[in-house]
Amino acid sequence: VLEQVMRMMSLLAQKKGTELTYRMEENCRVSATKGEVHQVIYNLTDNAVKYSGKNGKVRVELRHEDHDVVLTVADNGPGIPEEDLPKVFERFYRVDKARSRAAGGTGLGLSIVQDTVKKRGGMVSAANRPNGGAVFTVRWPEAEGGDHS
Ligand code: ATP
Ligand code: MG
Repeated sequence: VLEQVMRMMSLLAQKKGTELTYRMEENCRVSATKGEVHQVIYNLTDNAVKYSGKNGKVRVELRHEDHDVVLTVADNGPGIPEEDLPKVFERFYRVDKARSRAAGGTGLGLSIVQDTVKKRGGMVSAANRPNGGAVFTVRWPEAEGGDHS
């Protein structure tokens, strides 16, 4: 699923002049449908590309950590003001109304991501990177075999 979303997003990234790279470990399996995993990766990567602007760099990584599967989506954009960090997952919440409106969208992306991740027993968090930009981390319990994505 990650490769599929990356293929799709690389077209959008290319158009914006954003560098999109990714790395993933083998056998990262979670108990969620492909559609749910797609939605989560898509929304986070869409934001990273959308808000990092010109000369944006977006890095997506999928790895194992303890008994979890961890997805990080990092960008070199403006980041998110500290006081807004806990609120970005609220429905319709947008940090900069004018800028966000110009960028399109509804302000629902992250609330959908959080609902889906929680429903599947995981958690998602937002942070700023020390050298600028935002990073979103999704931590999902690893699934063992069976019919999973
Ligand atoms: P939609 O996802 O419905 O198209 P949206 O992107 O505005 O609209 P969310 O994805 O829920 O909505 O994001 C909420 C707000 O969080 C955004 O409007 C933006 O202000 C902020 N935000 C999200 N991701 C980033 C990011 N990578 N860098 C900076 N700000 C971000
Ligand atoms: Mg969004």
